[in-house]
Amino acid sequence: MNKYKLLTGMQDFLPEETKNWQYIENIFYDWINSYAYESIRTPILEATRLFVRSVGEETDVVGKEMYTFQDVSEEEVSLRPEGTVSTLRAVVEHSYLYSGPKKLWYYGPMFRRERPQKGRYRQFHQFGVEALGFSGPDIDAEIILMCFDLWKRLGLSNDVQLEINTLGNYEERQNYKQHLVKYLQKNKKLLDEDSLRRLNTNPLRILDTKNPELQEICNQAPRLIDFLGEESKSFYETLKMMLDALEIPFYENYRLVRGLDYYNHTVFEWTTKQLGSQGTVCAGGRYNGLIRELGGNDADGVGFAIGMERIILLMKTLGCLEFSNNIDFYVISQSEKCLIEAMKYATILRSHHYSVYTHFGGQKIGTQFKKANASGAKYAMVIGESELENNTITFKDLREEKGQETIKSEDMLCFLEKWMN
Ligand code: ATP
Ligand code: MG
Repeated sequence: MNKYKLLTGMQDFLPEETKNWQYIENIFYDWINSYAYESIRTPILEATRLFVRSVGEETDVVGKEMYTFQDVSEEEVSLRPEGTVSTLRAVVEHSYLYSGPKKLWYYGPMFRRERPQKGRYRQFHQFGVEALGFSGPDIDAEIILMCFDLWKRLGLSNDVQLEINTLGNYEERQNYKQHLVKYLQKNKKLLDEDSLRRLNTNPLRILDTKNPELQEICNQAPRLIDFLGEESKSFYETLKMMLDALEIPFYENYRLVRGLDYYNHTVFEWTTKQLGSQGTVCAGGRYNGLIRELGGNDADGVGFAIGMERIILLMKTLGCLEFSNNIDFYVISQSEKCLIEAMKYATILRSHHYSVYTHFGGQKIGTQFKKANASGAKYAMVIGESELENNTITFKDLREEKGQETIKSEDMLCFLEKWMN
């Protein structure tokens, strides 16, 4: 029996999996560079109070899901449950907005101690974007456009849809909350345990419930949009007009509230029907006021985070992640001396950007060829005793199209340039 096991909700990624990750990460890097966003990296561990204050004490994330423990220095620390707050902490700490607005991205593991299920883990990865110091709604439209473009690049356009809503400003939301709570109090008998708890702590989140029995009562609830002032309404209307002009289809979901306290005005989610109740692959919104709350100037902000595990699950479900190996040469050698000579040639090939796998273990040539075929490599490079003696190299096309050639070793690069094209 294995002595050591993964902790609940944690995952290992073996090479069959990391291949998928790298494929997607490369698309992400191209994509984010094409929008000229810059990368920021912050620690995984932060002071607990940072998240408590800004994500909100009454949210699920802070209230139930954080990995919090005491550091030896007695300070309470937490593994970050999300990326926005640490990003803003860093930006404020380094007065980074002093020189003007910034467009930033981050990527890395986040930690939430929730019940693990398909698409829900305790360590998961987010790719996030934060546009800081822009008051919108044009930048809100751009970051939604960015997502829309990314789905195209990943081949997911037909399988995700955009839901948007507005949360208005703080005062409008407070006023609305009172009306919502009054309505829900009247229907208290119909609420479930989770909602009863939220009634006193985070009533808006009740609207986000996944319990099918609560759908009707939530649909009938007063709508936040009806409590908005002119300014908030016009911000939202302009955003919708811009999305229309950019030809980005969206649904208005009046019940979309998001789980974290810091959002206001624009909120949005990209969802898919392919992943059951873990259907949100990307979520974001505007958080005016948060930078100030963290001690910075009064700069606005808007951003989103993409759940990498869910993107990968979705792409697997759709069959978009089937790759062959991309090894160019598999090195086969007949003796230790031959192997050392082959390693020199392999180094030259690698410096010319070929991918070369060297066989070790001194097996028979026939066995090595079997392994070469199974590896998915395109060509075998063979150094036997006769090659060693004559300063030659034999190349064999493992897909049998070009046969086999033995050439002078000094001609290797010239020969390959012609032979491989
Ligand atoms: P959900 O309603 O699914 O719990 P959330 O509102 O808690 O999502 P956010 O905090 O907005 O999620 O995080 C942004 C994205 O990160 C989510 O849309 C999802 O794709 C991903 N995500 C969040 N929590 C997890 C998790 N535990 N495991 C895997 N991915 C997650
Ligand atoms: Mg959650």
